[in-house]
Amino acid sequence: MSLLNQQRVRVAATYAYGDPWSPATSKQFLAWTVFCPCCAFGSAFPTWLQAMAAGLLHAQLFHCRFCIDRQMPAGRDDVLGELYERCPACGPACEDCDGIAVYPANYDTPADLAADLETFKLAAVFCDGCHGVVAVIPLDPEVYA
Ligand SMILES: [Zn+2]
Ligand SMILES: [Zn+2]
Ligand SMILES: [Zn+2]
Repeated sequence: MSLLNQQRVRVAATYAYGDPWSPATSKQFLAWTVFCPCCAFGSAFPTWLQAMAAGLLHAQLFHCRFCIDRQMPAGRDDVLGELYERCPACGPACEDCDGIAVYPANYDTPADLAADLETFKLAAVFCDGCHGVVAVIPLDPEVYA
C-alpha cells in the first residue's frame, strides 16, 4: 500500500446514483477505479484485486520504486540541510562524479547555497556534469582576507 501511496496512484470505489424513486438502490456500486494523477492514467475494474494489480503494474512500469521524479532522499547534512540525490535506478550515474553528487533541498540555485556556505567559511564544489554538490571545503582565509 505504501508503494501506491508514495507513487500517488489512487485506487477507489466509484458509485453511480441510480433510480431516485427507489432510495434502496440510490447508490450503486460501479467499479474500482485506478487513477494516477501525474500520468492522467485511469482505468476501471470490477474487483479491488484487479484494480490493485493494475495500479501496481502501472507503478512498476512508469514509476520508480525508489524515488519521486528521479529525486531520492539522501539524508541530511548539518550545513547543507535536507539532501536529495539522483535516483540510480532511473538512469545512468553522472559520468563526472559517478553519482555521488547531492542536491540540497533548501536551495533553488547554487548562488543561494554559496552565499549561505560563505557565512560558515565554507564553499561547495559542484559537479560539472550534473551540477550537484560533490564536496564542501573550507574557504581559504588568505584568499578571502
Ligand atoms: Zn503514473
Ligand atoms: Zn528512480
Ligand atoms: Zn555529477
